[in-house]
Amino acid sequence: MAYDYDLFVIGAGSGGVRAARVAAMSGATVAVAEEDRVGGTCVIRGCVPKKFMVYASEFAHHFKTSKGYGWTLSDARFDWPAFLAEKDKEIARLSGIYVRNLQNAGAELIHGKARLIDAHTVEIEGRGPVTTDKVLIATGGRPWMPRDLPGVEHAISSNEAFHLAELPKRIVIAGGGYIAVEFAGIFNGLGVETTLVHRGPNILRGFDDDVRSHLTEELEKRGIKVILGAQHIAVEKSPTGLTSRFSNDHECESDVVMFAVGREPYSQGLGLETAGVTLKDNGAVVVDSYSRTNVENIWAVGDVTDRINLTPVAIREGEAFARTVFHDQPTSFDHEMVASAVFSQPPIGSVGLSEADARKQYGKVDIYLARFRAMKYTFTGADERCLMKLVVDCASEKIVGCHVVAPDSPEIIQMAAIAMKMGVTKAQWDSTCAVHPTLAEELVTMREKHVPLGLTV
Ligand code: NDP
Repeated sequence: MAYDYDLFVIGAGSGGVRAARVAAMSGATVAVAEEDRVGGTCVIRGCVPKKFMVYASEFAHHFKTSKGYGWTLSDARFDWPAFLAEKDKEIARLSGIYVRNLQNAGAELIHGKARLIDAHTVEIEGRGPVTTDKVLIATGGRPWMPRDLPGVEHAISSNEAFHLAELPKRIVIAGGGYIAVEFAGIFNGLGVETTLVHRGPNILRGFDDDVRSHLTEELEKRGIKVILGAQHIAVEKSPTGLTSRFSNDHECESDVVMFAVGREPYSQGLGLETAGVTLKDNGAVVVDSYSRTNVENIWAVGDVTDRINLTPVAIREGEAFARTVFHDQPTSFDHEMVASAVFSQPPIGSVGLSEADARKQYGKVDIYLARFRAMKYTFTGADERCLMKLVVDCASEKIVGCHVVAPDSPEIIQMAAIAMKMGVTKAQWDSTCAVHPTLAEELVTMREKHVPLGLTV
């Protein structure tokens, strides 16, 4: 049977665009439907604009540090609307590059919401149905909001945080994950009185415990008010803004309340159930290691599958799908040892297992840990500390976890991830000569085992 397309991709984000381009390069006829701007969460309302906001907000800290180095700055002011306009210009430029890349590869871009009518038929809003041999779902995720919370309609998600008409004077951010912690740093850096409220005993569940505690201390040193073990029970309008009421009987006034309490896979309204695609309870599309669903001609990549929700992972999954299906090169992306960074201030770079997870998986592990003041801050006397930690499996002597909280840690961790992916042992790691004077040299000079409180070696 002849179809209109060999491949129909729903969603032009990082995963969908990569898959469409690589598939089209095989000579396949490929269409990509996108209901919003091309680029997906990462380019339009995630990693990229977020990083610009991090850069913008870091200047305040640099200005403060510069005083210790003899600088006098006067009249440093931040212009939020001017920054937003420049940010939006750059996002439009990047989105345009994505569009051109798709077109250059020979894929057809269709603007509109697409929905499966059956496994081989896609209906696009405002157009007739088209037929396709294969389908790729790459619709990503969306902020999850606590819909039953009284007054939640007064709160924003990260989507709106990129477009606030005015910079608030005070903000309350709910959540203790990547997004909450990153935005707390951004708003605090921009001079906004920032309160972070998280329901758990510590932020960033899943990260190494030393990293979590260390970062909390550093956030507080920078002026962020961190409230742990509490969550919103209501958001109410008040004469001066919004009142957040918390489960610990406390309340807090602010101009903006932002919820960053997780994201959900965007799988509703796509006709997936009609086509027979199996979803998990949270809406994630169930796939095998080749990103194939239970329906033979339908695949899914990226956040909609809720595996590791990171842009580079979606790209690799999209590429692996296209190589497998259109280039006859069976490829499955290996989800082990994927490094990640939290662009908090200071940032975190992390790869491999936390100490707790390594103890569960390997039993006996050695820990190497250093906390120190960076050279840049010893000069100014600022009380800002870095943390570096290695987790080593005693049996194989391999490094199974590396965690850094320090300026530039996202850059540092990329290199560590290469060595760890190759299975580096602690001895091989230590045989690497240090680069001096750097922060990262501490990583290759940690010789003494750290004995956590309450443990004996
Ligand atoms: P996360 O899943 O990382 O964190 C969600 C946070 O919200 C957790 O602290 C969670 O608490 C809390 N939470 C969940 N439900 C509730 C609730 N009902 N009430 C109060 N608190 C609640 O989600 P994010 O939205 O921060 O980020 C989503 C994903 O996007 C990340 O996991 C990451 O994969 C990706 N991302 C990556 C970035 C990067 O690479 N730098 C940046 C931003 C996002 P608890 O721990 O108790 O469950």
